[in-house]
Amino acid sequence: MNDFVGQFLAKKDYKDIHVSRHLLPFEDHKFLKAADARVMVRGAGVYLWDEHGNKFLDGLSGLWCTALGYGRPELIAAAAAQMETLSYCSQYFNTTNPAIAELSAKLFDLLPSPFSRVLYTNSGSEANDLMIKLVRRFWQLAGKPGKRILIARHNGYHGATIASASLGGMKLMHELSGGMIDDVHHIDEPYRFGLRDAQDETAFGVHAARELEAKILELGADRVGAFVAEPFQGAGGVIFPPASYWPEIQRICTRYDVLLCADEVVGGFGRTGSWFAHEYFGFAPDMMTIAKGLTSGYVPMGGLVLTQRIADTLADCGGTFAHGLTYQGHPLAAAVALATLRLLDDGGIVDMVENDTGPYLQRCLREVLGGHVLVAEIHGAGAVAALQLAYGRHKDQRFSNENMVGLYCMRKALEHGLILRTTAARLIVAPALVATRAEIDELVGKLRLTLDDAARALK
Ligand code: PLP
Repeated sequence: MNDFVGQFLAKKDYKDIHVSRHLLPFEDHKFLKAADARVMVRGAGVYLWDEHGNKFLDGLSGLWCTALGYGRPELIAAAAAQMETLSYCSQYFNTTNPAIAELSAKLFDLLPSPFSRVLYTNSGSEANDLMIKLVRRFWQLAGKPGKRILIARHNGYHGATIASASLGGMKLMHELSGGMIDDVHHIDEPYRFGLRDAQDETAFGVHAARELEAKILELGADRVGAFVAEPFQGAGGVIFPPASYWPEIQRICTRYDVLLCADEVVGGFGRTGSWFAHEYFGFAPDMMTIAKGLTSGYVPMGGLVLTQRIADTLADCGGTFAHGLTYQGHPLAAAVALATLRLLDDGGIVDMVENDTGPYLQRCLREVLGGHVLVAEIHGAGAVAALQLAYGRHKDQRFSNENMVGLYCMRKALEHGLILRTTAARLIVAPALVATRAEIDELVGKLRLTLDDAARALK
């Protein structure tokens, strides 16, 4: 353990402090017990170790962020060198620094050409907040200030700040947060499981997209500024829409002059095997938010990337751009992000996910688990996937206690040394992009043990 960090407290105090001194993410504190807490003390590659020396394969790469695995020497060296050279520099007062300039040069090398400017943040939530602000500012400058409504999707996740949670479609977050911001509306997610008899996949995709058209017509196109969505829903359950969905969304946005905004916080930087998930699905957003994989999760950084049409309007049309963050474009984050992008690109890691390990993971999941008694369908591409659990002869019956089934699997997976995540009865994996074929075999093997346990328990 790090000598400096490890020298002040006895190990048992960590757990007490964890539960008594913090408000923890998405927990009911009434039921939290110090004894159940896990203390992670070390990470290397795709593995984590807890205080007792137990080893876990991190099947979720942190929170879908540690794309390069833990302890990557190139990122550590980039951070250390930057801390020694220039440990802080703001972008205020027309000031820049080499790290942020090099990062942006590399970023725009990788981005599709319509993108032209970026505004850095410290998180995905902030980036989505900012997206709302800039959609409204854009339409003010474009002479249509009435277009201030944003349409997003039920069960989408865009962050935890008041504005990004408003954009998100997580009902509980709305109910428990004392009110959301106004002029945000939601349509259904393109989640077809359980409705399969109703329509074939292509028809369902078009039908789901046309909910957007109906909502725009209901609200009035002159009042709707943007549609915001994750290319595939992450926290909502890794829901991959049918191939027909995004082209239809694009058509609708173009027809009604509604900005198409992609939240690439999870999907960006190679997760699907394409650099950005919107490229995987074949659509072209006007704005997109990024975070997580940008720095491989090592330091906080996010951003909002704008296409030329938007950027030119915001930059040229005028007035002060009334936004700024103390840590916007922080040189430490920039240096780590630059090192991350170099590894993903020059190191061939995104290439590998696209052509080798991504297809391998998807094939193994389907071959090994596709026929499992509890697995109804598998969604995913590249290094992200979800297994929909269901039961019955045709595996078309959803568990009435879906959350319990999911949590049971999550706990069993941990006993088998695998960290995964669940949304209801969907088991989600998103390993580091550097996971090897052998590590993927191990992940799939542990998943099978988990599913076998669940099948026995549910008999
Ligand atoms: N957008 C998506 C799609 C996310 O999954 C998340 C977080 O998981 C966010 C935004 C918020 O990012 P952050 O937690 O960095 O604020």
